[in-house]
Amino acid sequence: MAFDNVGKVWTPASLAEDIAGRAVPDWLDSITIHHTAAPALSQRPRGFTIQHIRNIQNFYSSPKSAGGKGWSTGPHLFIDEDQIFGMCDFRSKGIHATSFNHRSLGIEVLGDYDIEDPHTGRGKACWLNTAATVGVLLKWASLKKNTSTILFHRDDPKTRKSCPGKRIDKKWFLDLIPADIDRSLDTVPFEKPDVGIPWDAWHFAGEQWCVPLYAFMTAKGVPAAEVLANLKSKGGIIYYGEELIHGGFYVPKGKTPKPDETTWVPVRNLIEILHA
Ligand SMILES: [Zn+2]
Repeated sequence: MAFDNVGKVWTPASLAEDIAGRAVPDWLDSITIHHTAAPALSQRPRGFTIQHIRNIQNFYSSPKSAGGKGWSTGPHLFIDEDQIFGMCDFRSKGIHATSFNHRSLGIEVLGDYDIEDPHTGRGKACWLNTAATVGVLLKWASLKKNTSTILFHRDDPKTRKSCPGKRIDKKWFLDLIPADIDRSLDTVPFEKPDVGIPWDAWHFAGEQWCVPLYAFMTAKGVPAAEVLANLKSKGGIIYYGEELIHGGFYVPKGKTPKPDETTWVPVRNLIEILHA
């Protein structure tokens, strides 16, 4: 039924695997892009959780008399900087744009892109994740990438909204969608690898996902003494052995992110060090 995908979470790669071989609905000829506006990125500093999606579902499905919208369904996907959350299942027509509901999958991108920046940091990560997702869906539905298959909510003559935001340009977004989706799935940025640290303990800084170095390395089986011997700080620059760690930083006592009194570094650097 129409809220069947609430609770499902994918990356572009796992979505591609999941929908491969599933029948494409005969009504589907396009994908409509929205921004959530509220919540903005600033209101979801660590992105969505499944509970957030359940709360939105509850708002959509509650009767109007109870302050809801009384809808039987909603958009198909909600996307943040590193994950894709399901809502309406792909067989069912969603509710998201009056003129496009009958023929288009609806995607909500986390953020308020009338104001927030889609070209750097978390905003950019959200749009890269969305572009990869759209690439996966276009391939699945055997649709070409163009201005007829990729719709913005504001293309609907029945809305006065700027959705998905004044700062989002259609050509810019089309260019962001990978031409060869299978190849690009290996390199989609900001997918968090499983490093043995819960993802809500990560911190986004300097446009990269960072984890506490000590906790990460010891979780990977590096002896504590070896980690401590390699970890150095000179003039505010973090080194691991001889290796300068770009984007590494030390958090003093009482400061955020937590844990404090520890060195944080971009997780990609640590994975490279482990595999060196
Ligand atoms: Zn919209």
